[in-house]
Amino acid sequence: MTRKLPVYLLLDTSESMAGEALESVEIGVHKTISSLKKNPYALESVHLSIITFAAKAKVVLPFTEILAVNPPALSIKPGTSLGAALDLLRESILKDVTRTTREEKGDFRPLVFILTDGQPTDDWRGPLARLKEVKPRLGHIYGVGCGDEVDFETLGQIADVSIQVEAATSDSLAKFFVWLTDSVQSASVSPDTPLSLEKTPPLDKGMNLIDKNSPPKFHPETVRLHFHATCSKTKKHYLMRYRHDLTRPVYFFERSFAVPEDFFADGSLKAPATDAGSLLGSSDCPYCHGDAWGKCGFCGHIFCLDSNNLQPEVTCPFCETHLTLDPRNDANFSVDGSVG
Ligand SMILES: [Zn+2]
Ligand SMILES: [Zn+2]
Repeated sequence: MTRKLPVYLLLDTSESMAGEALESVEIGVHKTISSLKKNPYALESVHLSIITFAAKAKVVLPFTEILAVNPPALSIKPGTSLGAALDLLRESILKDVTRTTREEKGDFRPLVFILTDGQPTDDWRGPLARLKEVKPRLGHIYGVGCGDEVDFETLGQIADVSIQVEAATSDSLAKFFVWLTDSVQSASVSPDTPLSLEKTPPLDKGMNLIDKNSPPKFHPETVRLHFHATCSKTKKHYLMRYRHDLTRPVYFFERSFAVPEDFFADGSLKAPATDAGSLLGSSDCPYCHGDAWGKCGFCGHIFCLDSNNLQPEVTCPFCETHLTLDPRNDANFSVDGSVG
């Protein structure tokens, strides 16, 4: 029996990955798989599994030899359950990986890559402690944080090696996936020794090795905020993303994203209360392009409005309560966003 080199990819699919980041990750996963399929060393040993984490952790690609892998579809959900992903990783390793016995040499040490753009929203310490006990012992865990909202202090406690990808853009993420592909290929050439930093390809411009003793400071107040909203006309869901203004305690509307019907199936957006008066700029409904939003005083949900065609009375698309718009009431009420 040939010995397998298990490679686990843990991907953050929380709301903050909506848009370019998730699209780039899908493209990157595609390219990584097709490159590995052409590499004779990888073909011989690499088995890949992909676990996503958002509201829940999910195995989206069960442990499969690289030649037979089909890239999975990824979808956005609220939250960043990295702890749940570590638990699922442990269960997967116990199920997938052959242990060494007196009679037989088992598989090589599993190699783990975690890609995230935020900070965990669940408990990760317990799952991490359990994961460290797993047999066969893990090779290095590589923690890769992309963008400027990564909590590297936490990531550094989970991962053996922390790497920063400066921006969650298609260019930067493409570079990361090239590095990932080269790293897995390099590991498959001599899978007996765990992949160390000396063996990984050099980091490209825009990727930095994080010093675990002095990780960059994490500023939770500067992260982007995400709000769940519903289109008044189509009743479809979307997310509104606001970006912190680094000079003032206000947030500017960045863009909105249509989300599938099942977006809230596993959980909801959780977040600090934010003063609506600190949310600036007109919004944009991805369905009807309404450029404003209101908040139902009855159920608290947010829905789109068209500022050029404001009606004195509206119906909340959630609870169907008839509401009277109060134009003076557009500031200083609390709204729930999310920081996942
Ligand atoms: Zn709308
Ligand atoms: Zn309502």
